[in-house]
Order: sequence, then C-alpha cells, then structure tokens
Amino acid sequence: MALFYDGLPCTLCGEEMTNADQLFSTSHFLGPDSDLWEYSDAIMPWDCDARWEHQARFGQMYFEANRQCSDQNGPWGVAHSDDQLMVKTSPDKHVGEVDVMLARTGSGFRVCLADGEDWLTGECFGDYHHEIASEELTAILPLLRSRFQLRRLLSLRLAWI
Ligand SMILES: [Zn+2]
Repeated sequence: MALFYDGLPCTLCGEEMTNADQLFSTSHFLGPDSDLWEYSDAIMPWDCDARWEHQARFGQMYFEANRQCSDQNGPWGVAHSDDQLMVKTSPDKHVGEVDVMLARTGSGFRVCLADGEDWLTGECFGDYHHEIASEELTAILPLLRSRFQLRRLLSLRLAWI
C-alpha cells in the first residue's frame, strides 16, 4: 500500500492532499500491461476519483483482483461473492467484523458485527462514506439485507471456531 502523508500529491490531478480528504487507495494490483497500472498502489481523494473518467472501470478492476485472490487472504473467508458485492468474515472469535467490498467503486468497509443491524438500516452511510460509495451502498442495500444477514454470518463464523 502506498503511504500517505500530508501534502502528498494526488495521483490524478497532482494537487496536494490533506488529512481532511476522504481517500481511496489500492494495493499494487495492476502490472505495466494495464493502461491504468500507474494508478494502482496509489492514493487519491474520493472527490477526484468520483470525477475520473476511468473511475468505474478502475473500481471494477480492483474489485475483481480482490475477488480472485480472496482465498489467499489468511484468516478471512468469503461468505458471499457476486458481481456487485463481496463479503468476507473471519472464524477468529477476536475479529468481530465483516469485510464488505463493492464492485462499482472498489470501495471496502469493515463493519462491526455488534453494530451490523444498525448499519444495515443505511442511515449512517452518508456520515462515514464519500457520496459515491454511499450511493452504491444505498443502491445495493436490499441485496445487502437479503444476502448479508449478520446473524447468519455470525453463526457461520461461530461454526468455524
Ligand atoms: Zn486530485
């Protein structure tokens, strides 16, 4: 992962970023054979990413790269995966979170299981996530509610212990 510091130039526009920016970063998931490889392992403000012409394609590529290596992710296992969404959970009883990743923005979230029922109301998305990710979350909320039931995930997690 690229390291952030105050004043680091934005990968997209070159303007200095600050701690006040909501940031999107990716791992080094693309090689030089991709036309977007220079943007992997980089940091950009969500404000810039949202306006970027390649935003949707880049987000989708990051999502697919994460899906493809999801079985090599140590203690995290895939509980649900489709074209829109991937949900991972951990059998480790000390990890009280699930990991959610969205396809259209390539954004990822850790959701505390204890807060999951409240989170699934969607009321707080705008408080924590940039508009572009919040909109995507809201759009797939019915899918999240039907397929990503925290109690089911929790019982799955407990079954692994
Ligand atoms: Zn920028």
